[in-house]
Amino acid sequence: MHTPYSIDKSSIDKNDVILTGDRATGRLHLGHYSGSLSQRLALQGQCAQTILVADMQGLTDNGHQPGHVATHILGLVADYLAVGLDPDKVTICQQSQLPALAELTMFYSNLVSYTRLVRNPTVKHEINDKQFGQQVPVGFLTYPISQAADITAFGANLVPVGDDQLPMIEQTNDIVRKFNHVVGEPVLRECRALTSKASRLPGVDGKSKMSNSLGNAIYLSDDNDTIRDAVRSMYTDPQHLRVSDPGRVEGNVVFTYLDAFHPDAQHVAELKAHYQRGGLGDMTVKNVLTDSLVSLISPIRERRKALMNAPDHLLDVLKDGQQKASIQTNQTCQNVKRSLGLLVG
Ligand code: ATP
Ligand code: MG
Repeated sequence: MHTPYSIDKSSIDKNDVILTGDRATGRLHLGHYSGSLSQRLALQGQCAQTILVADMQGLTDNGHQPGHVATHILGLVADYLAVGLDPDKVTICQQSQLPALAELTMFYSNLVSYTRLVRNPTVKHEINDKQFGQQVPVGFLTYPISQAADITAFGANLVPVGDDQLPMIEQTNDIVRKFNHVVGEPVLRECRALTSKASRLPGVDGKSKMSNSLGNAIYLSDDNDTIRDAVRSMYTDPQHLRVSDPGRVEGNVVFTYLDAFHPDAQHVAELKAHYQRGGLGDMTVKNVLTDSLVSLISPIRERRKALMNAPDHLLDVLKDGQQKASIQTNQTCQNVKRSLGLLVG
């Protein structure tokens, strides 16, 4: 399977621990793939790796419609398996089934100021996008703390994420340093982000990042006609009116996607040069992109379809994952309570 970039596997060792997750707010899309999934795939089997179906985090902006989150839980597991994540190599589990994560969130909340939370640029941006006005749910404002709980509960030091998540990594390390300082011992581990070459894939509208909530995504389960229509609607260079006109590739979403997903970088470089000189039409380039997306997505889509017909298998994957993850997360929570001096009995 084509991955949009390569990762230096030799820099990973057995002590490394990877943690990532996805909000259960929709099916997985190309942004997930380029920003995080392909790195998880490249690194599976190299060290411990846990993937969280982040249902509690999904509820932080869906509190009034919990069904919107519940309905996507098994679909996420199917997406993971369909892209090639192997439950024998990675632990796949559900956030709400691990109570230690909620407990840790409560303990860490005492170390984070309100001002620090409202300064978080991603949260600020999302609050604006979601048009909460004065009605920002407390859970939404504090979700970076719950992410810190997720990461530290597994002792993770590597987090493959898109660049919208960089402030969350910073927030996690702030908490880790503060906590360790307060208790006077290195109980929690610092982490760093593993970002990819396409760590902020724009949506098909070319404006914001591709995102479930913004309705601008191409899903890993889309059919070929949907993919073709989405590519056809993509923003290119508004000045490129005639085929013979020289065109711009910077900010041209079609080329951004070709860079991220076409398996032949040399061919993309030739297309770019031709487009810039003039003489290459938007439709021709879009057809090239459609073909490469169809060949990436169709096998994933077909595997996903089969997996969705076997929900018991998906549930077993979550159950196995929960068993392993409970042991680790409970252990961290006990360490946290012990170091805070709370285990007085
Ligand atoms: P929502 O809109 O509900 O927040 P989402 O589409 O943003 O959903 P998340 O579950 O928030 O998806 O993100 C999961 C992971 O995928 C994160 O590491 C995030 O950085 C990465 N990711 C999501 N969208 C993109 C994107 N467009 N480009 C690169 N990485 C992305
Ligand atoms: Mg998001």
